[in-house]
Parts: sequence; C-alpha cells; structure tokens
Amino acid sequence: MAKKLVYLFEEVETAEKASGSWEDVRGLLGGKGANLAEMWRIGVQVPPGFTVTTEACNEYLSSPGAAFPDELWKQELEALRAIEKQTGKGFGDATNPLLVSCRSGAKISMPGMMDTVLNIGLNDETAEGLVKLTNGDERFVYDSYRRLVQMFGIVVKGVEDDLFEEVITKTRLEAGVETDAELTADHWRKVTREFKAIYRHESGSKFPTDPLAQIKLATEAVFKSWNGKRAIDYRNASNIPHSLGTATSIVTMVFGNMGNDCATGVAMTRNGSTGEKHIEGDYLINAQGEDVVAGIRMTEDIVKLQQDMPRAYKEFEEIAKKLERHYRDMQDVEFTVEKGKLWMLQTRDGKRTAQAAVRIAVDMVKEGLITKEEAVKRITPEQIDFFLHPQFESSAKEEAESQGKLVATGLNVSPGAAYGVIALDADLAETWAKEGKNVIMVRPETKPDDVHGMLAANGILTSRGGRTSHAALVARQFGTPAVVGVSSMEIDMSKRLVKIGELIIKEGDVISVDGTIGDVYLGELSTKIPDFKDPWLIKLLSWADEIRDLGVWANADYPDDAKRALEYGAEGIGLCRTEHMFFQPERLSHVQKMILNELPVKQQEALDALLPFQREDFMGLFKVMDGLPVIIRLIDPPLHEFLPNHTDLAREISDIKIRLQHAKNLADIDALLEQVKEKDWILKRVEANREENPMLGFRGVRLGIHIPALTSMQVRAIFEAACMAAKEGISVFPKIMIPLTSHANELKVQRELLENVAKTVMKEQRMTIEYKFGTMIEIPRAALTADEMAEYSEFFSFGTNDLTQTTYGISRDDAESGFLLEYLDRGIITDNPFSTIDQNGIGELMKIAVKKGRTSNAALECGICGEHGGDPRSIQFCHTLGLNYVSCSPFRIPIARLVAAHAKLGEEPS
Ligand code: PEP
Ligand code: MG
Repeated sequence: MAKKLVYLFEEVETAEKASGSWEDVRGLLGGKGANLAEMWRIGVQVPPGFTVTTEACNEYLSSPGAAFPDELWKQELEALRAIEKQTGKGFGDATNPLLVSCRSGAKISMPGMMDTVLNIGLNDETAEGLVKLTNGDERFVYDSYRRLVQMFGIVVKGVEDDLFEEVITKTRLEAGVETDAELTADHWRKVTREFKAIYRHESGSKFPTDPLAQIKLATEAVFKSWNGKRAIDYRNASNIPHSLGTATSIVTMVFGNMGNDCATGVAMTRNGSTGEKHIEGDYLINAQGEDVVAGIRMTEDIVKLQQDMPRAYKEFEEIAKKLERHYRDMQDVEFTVEKGKLWMLQTRDGKRTAQAAVRIAVDMVKEGLITKEEAVKRITPEQIDFFLHPQFESSAKEEAESQGKLVATGLNVSPGAAYGVIALDADLAETWAKEGKNVIMVRPETKPDDVHGMLAANGILTSRGGRTSHAALVARQFGTPAVVGVSSMEIDMSKRLVKIGELIIKEGDVISVDGTIGDVYLGELSTKIPDFKDPWLIKLLSWADEIRDLGVWANADYPDDAKRALEYGAEGIGLCRTEHMFFQPERLSHVQKMILNELPVKQQEALDALLPFQREDFMGLFKVMDGLPVIIRLIDPPLHEFLPNHTDLAREISDIKIRLQHAKNLADIDALLEQVKEKDWILKRVEANREENPMLGFRGVRLGIHIPALTSMQVRAIFEAACMAAKEGISVFPKIMIPLTSHANELKVQRELLENVAKTVMKEQRMTIEYKFGTMIEIPRAALTADEMAEYSEFFSFGTNDLTQTTYGISRDDAESGFLLEYLDRGIITDNPFSTIDQNGIGELMKIAVKKGRTSNAALECGICGEHGGDPRSIQFCHTLGLNYVSCSPFRIPIARLVAAHAKLGEEPS
C-alpha cells in the first residue's frame, strides 16, 4: 500500500495509530496540522481541511530536482474531494466555489518564518460566482482575489511585497482615503488587475487560473519555505533540527472580510509578557488574518470584541478555556468570525517571556491543571537565567526622566533593559553587533525577514504593532527586551533618523529601552542585577528543591557573595578561595614579606600580621552562613602571583640606575642606591620563585607542605573565627580543603599539622568545633588513587577546571583563546571542555574517583566546585554520578536548583 502522505482532520486517530504518540503526530502533521485535527476531535469549530505530512515535504526536498511525488498529488486530490463533500462546495466550481488556504506548520512552531497562501481557488470565473453567492459583495470578493495574487506572487514567485503595497498606497491616495477599509469594489478590481500585471512582469508567467495548479504550486512553495533564509536563521537560533521539515495544511477558507459582522484576530489565553490570567489579543473587523499580524492596520484590543460581537466573544472565551484545559498550557490562537459565526483556525502553545512562563506554570499547578513536577520540567535553565538579567537602576531612570530623556512610551512586550546604538534595518543591526556594538534595532514593524537583525540586537523598538505582533513574539522567544507600538515615533528611512515630536534622533545615536515598563530613553542608562523577589519563581524553585537529590552550594569568597548566594538558595559554601583575600592592598605587603623572607622568624612576623585579616574574613562568612557548611580551601596559586612582575621590576631598577647617573646631591645618591639594593634583592627572590610551568609547579598543597607556618596560620584563623562565631551563638560547620593534591601522603602530612593546630586553638578557646577535612580532586593521579586519598579525607571536591587542564593537557589560561576555538570551529571537538564536562575523559576519572573513594570510605561526601558546577549538562552528569552537591557561582545557583530537579525527574519513566 502506498505511504499515507495526507490526513484529513478527522483522520487524527489514524495518524496517532500510525505514529505512536501525540508527539509523533506533531512530528508528522506539524504543530498546526496536529492541533487543527485535535480541535476537530474535541468538538471545537474548525473549518474542514487536511494536512500534507512533513514526510512528504522531506521527500520532496530531498528528491533530485525537487519533484512533486505522484502519490502525494493523488492523495491531495482525494482529500480535496472529501472537503468538497463536507462543505457542499466545488473546487473551481464557478457557481459554488470552494476556497482554501495553504498553511505551513512545523513540529515546533516557528511563527511567521514560513509561508501561507490564502484564498486559493479564485480566478475570474469563481470570483464572479462568489459575487453572486455573496449577494453582490464585489468589494469582498476582489479584496480576496487581489490578496491571492499578492500572496501567490510573493510566496510562489518571490515577487517583492513592496511592489504590491505601492499599488495599494497609490490607490488610497488617488481615492483620497486613509485606510484600506475605505476602498471600494472598483478599487479592488483595478488593484487585482494591476497585481496580475505585476505578477506577470516580475515572474515572467501569467497568474495561474487553474485552482488545481494553484494548490499544487502553493504546496510546493510551502515546502520550499522550510529552507528559506529566515527559517534557517530561526532554527539555528532556536536549536530546531533542520531535518524536521514542514507540514502543509489545506483548510477551507472562512472570511473575516465579508462585512462588519465579520472579524479576524489572534489571542493568547494568558498574558504572554507577565503570565497574568486574562485573554490578550488583537482583532480587526472586516479584515483577513494577515492584516492583524502584519501590523499594517491599527488593531483593536480583544477586550473590545466583547462589545462589538458579544455572542462570538463569549463563545471565544469558552473555547479558550476548553483549549487550555485540553492542552494544559497557555494557548496562542487564531480565529475568524464569518457573519457572526466563530471559527478557530489555529491553536498552539503560546510563546512567553521567562517571567510569564514561570507564573503560568505555578498558576496552573494551583488551578489543578498540571503537577508540580510538570511545572518544574516546563521551565528551562535559560528562562531562570533571565531573572538575573540586568534592569535599569531606578535612580538612573529618575535622573534621565528629570533631564527630559524619557522620550517615549510603548507596549512593554518583552522585559529587560537594553541600551545601544540605533540601527534602522536588520542587516545593519547584524553588522554592528558583529563589530561588538550594543544595538537597538528600530523599525516601523518587524517582519520575518528581520529576524537575523533581531537576534543580533540587544533590544527592539517599533512604532507599530501590538502585543501579538511579530516583533513581540520573536523578542519574547529570544528574551530580547522590546518595546513596540510607540505611536509617537516616526521613522524616516530616507534620512535614516527617528522623530519623536520635535525630537530628532539619528541612526547610530544611543538609546535605552525598558521592555519591563515600555519606556524609551535617550542615551545609556546604568543597569543593576534585579532583586530575587518574584514570588512565582521562588515558589517554582521551592518545588525544584523538593524534587532534587543534589545539593546546591556556592563558590563565594566574601560575605557579600555569600549573602547573594543565600538569597538565591545556596545550601552551603562549596569553595572559598582564601588567596583572593591576600590580594587586597593592605594585605599584599605582608604576603610579599612572607614570600620574600626565607628566615622563619621574618616569615612568622608576616603571617602573624595576616592572621587577624583572615580571621575576620572567615568570621564574616560564618556569620552569613549561620547553620550551613562552609568549605574553606587553603592557599592554592603559585607564590609568584603575589610578587611584582619580573620585567617591570627589571625596568624599574634600570630607571633608578639612570636617575643615579644624573643625581647630583649625596643624599639623593644614597637614597637611590638604597632603592637599587632593595629592588635587586626583590628581583633575586622573584627569580628564585620563577617557574617555567607555574600551573604545574609550586602551588596548592605543595606550598602548605613547604611552608607549614602558612597552613598553620590559615587553620588557626579558621578555628579562632569559628570559636568566636560559636560564642556569638552562630552554628558553624567549617570544612577545610587542601588543593592540588596528587598523593595520599600529602594529605597525611597536612592533616596531622591541621589537627594539631585545631586542637591547640580549641583548647585555648575552651571549645569544640565540629569540622571536616577533605581534598580537591583536580589531578588525574588523585582521581586514580582516590581509595588512598579517601583514607585521609572526609570529602572530595572535584576541581574540574584544573582536572580538565591536567587531564586534557591544555592550559586553562590560553587554550580558549587559541587552538581550542579552531577545534570547535572545525568540529574536532563538539564542546569546550572548560564549559561542559568532557564526560568520556574527565567524566571517567570522576567516576573512578567516586567509586574508589566511597569503597574505601563509605561516608565520603563528593561534590564539584569547578566552573562546571553551574553548567546544566555538567550538573545532569554530576547527578548521574551520585555526587552530593554542586557548587557554583552565586548567579548560577537558581539554575543549578532547577537543573538538579530536572536531572532527578529525567530518571523517572515518563
Ligand atoms: C578548579 O580547579 O576547578 C578549582 C575550583 O580551583 P581553581 O579554579 O581555584 O584552581
Ligand atoms: Mg584548581
């Protein structure tokens, strides 16, 4: 039997049987086709129609010379006969013509990226037939006919839309009217004739009058639009596989442009920007679908439909509810009212901002539509990340306002703050962004062809369009701040400038847009990270916390970092890099003294001076983390990092020597000689500390072993701070971590030293502090001998930055700006191993370490504190590995909480 390439809407069950799951039905019929069929199944009023499968599209696109499969045409004709029967109309029948639309629809919705042709079936004869059928409504018929020629020309033959639009503008001017709605039947007749002439001139062929030829060509054009530039750009940006192909739905036309009891519109069942639970949308009386989304005509707010067409609105509200209940998600719908009767033309899960996604998911749990687990699953790490995106500082906004720089306000369709130079077209926006500029793309309205510019821009601003306009949908999807429908703004493309009232802003000038509020400012406003207060997000993450097994800790060195980490939900500090505090100016001189002096007494003097600073640092952390564990890692980097640069030092000495040659008075000469002596000595010590391979040299535990007094000072500072904090009633759980170990004996030596100091301090303070001792695993030998390492460790923390460096044998400081880029570009490796754990290599070592470590010490806690601890794929892997926690920068904590829950949910059979 021939493969089934066409499914009538009522054949949805057959499609389900053939495909297996609903997901597969969407894959086969595309989201639009599958949902039209599904609406049919649940009794929502949908015009009769059928869908040509994505398989047919892929077959067509991959066949040599893109041949239309014979079998497909046969099946399309059969399906057409079936809808003729259902509607009682005939395709091409001049007395009772059936008109259809041909609509694209991929598995994953790509709004506006592919093509659609409406009113197929019209020619000179059927048009006249339709005039009779509509009691002489010539205006409607010829408006529809010209649209067919226009869309067909654009979609099938690639004719420039502007050529058609110019004719309409000219006709309006000649008629002395402002809107298309005021043009008469005669106007549209004339426009149709002119459109046909344009079609012929531009395409070199006559407009096809055979309805069957129209449908075949339109189907082919929709198939081809899968590989159009804008569709490819969009798929690249959204990670949609290029192999999916598009389905094509052929749907009986219903008309929103048959008079004032007709309308057409688009709506979201909830607010796509905020997630609030109310229908939101735009419509037009006496118009056809494309008019609403194109932003060419001023649309009405859907709320007004309640007054214009109360019955249709009520029915619409009920259908919206029904669809939400059925799909258990917010829906984005298209509808048409034809002579008072409501028809649904499309439903799909609505695009939404990150804020709206979270709010809708949480509200739907409360409404009993979905479970907490489903809500957590629906949110992506990128959406969580968005909550941490910068917003304008309120003081900056107030100041700008007082200086008259708040120049316009529009619709706040995609939240966030952005500033940049104005680019008035998509190509320029892309070029400037590639040059590293911050860009705000400013357009009258955006079209699918603008997508590459929108993707490159930091913000989007349009003078026309509503909440469901193309600009709003695309901006929301990509998390780009956007303000649309700024009606006070006029764009003069010929002079390349923007006018707002008297104000003239040139292309290339800087503006700021606040997509959260809808405000537009002149100049650049300063931004800040927003407070983490969204109640829906807090709720959602609390559900993620209930689900996940993995702990989420933070890498934090200072009390302020720790506070932020706690606010974001950290359950402990997984890495405090103690050396960071050494770089502060008031401490650096003591650190240098310690390194430069080999004499133990001198070293001790310097360490004694550092002790109070370190104690204060740790006290600050313990206070913030009251009741939670704090892992403090002893000093790690090579000592030369704290010393002056060798070349700078040599230059300074040579400068002093030159000054010495010119010095005249004795006192100056003495002082300069003294300086040379001192600097020479420092230079010698710097040289003594110099290493060819410092990252593999005298650092980490090696320092602690060589300068035991350094370890003692740090451990003393930790325990003195812990005792002081405990005396203030704070619960302290210090965990001391040794870096860069490669041999168990290193741990043995350090542990003995540490335990002695700890005991001494606790005795002095007459207190007992519970603490743990552990090591970083960041050298392959440590991982391979983890059983031995675990004999002296109560916890392991994978330092995957160094573990990647040492396992791969690539420098963490240089590789990412060097050959690694070429490797990635050429596909020699698919992922940067410093961003996401290389599971086959580094991951294997981690696996061995966890297994061996826990075999020798069953209570061993294992975590990760390299940068990978905040990377979603690596977090998934850490969950699989059975780690106890991931530790990451405070800004990654919310994402880590979510992904840890995803990892757990991913384990369960769905
Ligand atoms: C690591 O190597 O992964 C680590 C956390 O330590 P650092 O980055 O401080 O070397
Ligand atoms: Mg390290």
